[in-house]
Amino acid sequence: MPLRIFLSLFILVHLWLNILMAIHLLNCFTCNARWPSNLKTGMVCLLMETDQGLTLVDTGLGLEEYIKPTWMTRLFRSITIMPFSPAEAAFNQAKKLGYNPNDVKHIILTHMHFDHCSGLPDFPHARVHVHKREYEAFTDNKILHWDEYAYIPRYIAHQPKFVLYENITDKWYDFDAIRLPFEPEMYFIPLFGHSRGHCGLAIKTSTGWFFHAADAGAVYNNETPEWLIKFVLGPHDPLLRAFMHAHPEVLISNSHMVPEFFTQHSTIA
Ligand SMILES: [Zn+2]
Repeated sequence: MPLRIFLSLFILVHLWLNILMAIHLLNCFTCNARWPSNLKTGMVCLLMETDQGLTLVDTGLGLEEYIKPTWMTRLFRSITIMPFSPAEAAFNQAKKLGYNPNDVKHIILTHMHFDHCSGLPDFPHARVHVHKREYEAFTDNKILHWDEYAYIPRYIAHQPKFVLYENITDKWYDFDAIRLPFEPEMYFIPLFGHSRGHCGLAIKTSTGWFFHAADAGAVYNNETPEWLIKFVLGPHDPLLRAFMHAHPEVLISNSHMVPEFFTQHSTIA
């Protein structure tokens, strides 16, 4: 095969794989501070093609929330400024991107607070991957910490199939990591504290790594005092900031990010 044809094919296959494995970064829950700051945030959910089919990471608010909001969503609507638009539902955003939402085969949850799993019923046949400690915190009907009021039982009333993870299998950089059964390569990074079984998610990209640290930190936020971040998000924020500075080659996000982050990183190849 002439070299030119071989190179063209190689580039085409490479481009195709990049498109196939692209990670779409969706804002599935805009929630802006009312007072005393005017911090604007959207919530990071990821929609990606994997070797196991279309996969969603966290769900944001689900469709039913916009018709019959839970007490928690009503509370957030009163204390923050939310557009509260069903256009933000992952189901509708998947459609807008040209996907059939019924093709979402897997949902990976960083944790099960209301804003992260309200949309589970919109994908009733998807397998739900979550850390075992988090699943137990959600289902044991015990409130061991104030954050557990953010667990809303109706989100799993359709009885989705859960896949639970517990044992550390690897190291990712210096973090303990649990390999998830998907390509591209990805790992749960247990970061307990914000909730009982909260995990970040590290995903291999064509250029390096994307580390979604979810609600374990607020590494781009230099306005909120350290004690408040620790109180709400747990103990990992300083470590995540140190990691971010030591590894500029890794793209890091938290769950609640400023709107510009979504425009800068709408697709991560
Ligand atoms: Zn949370």
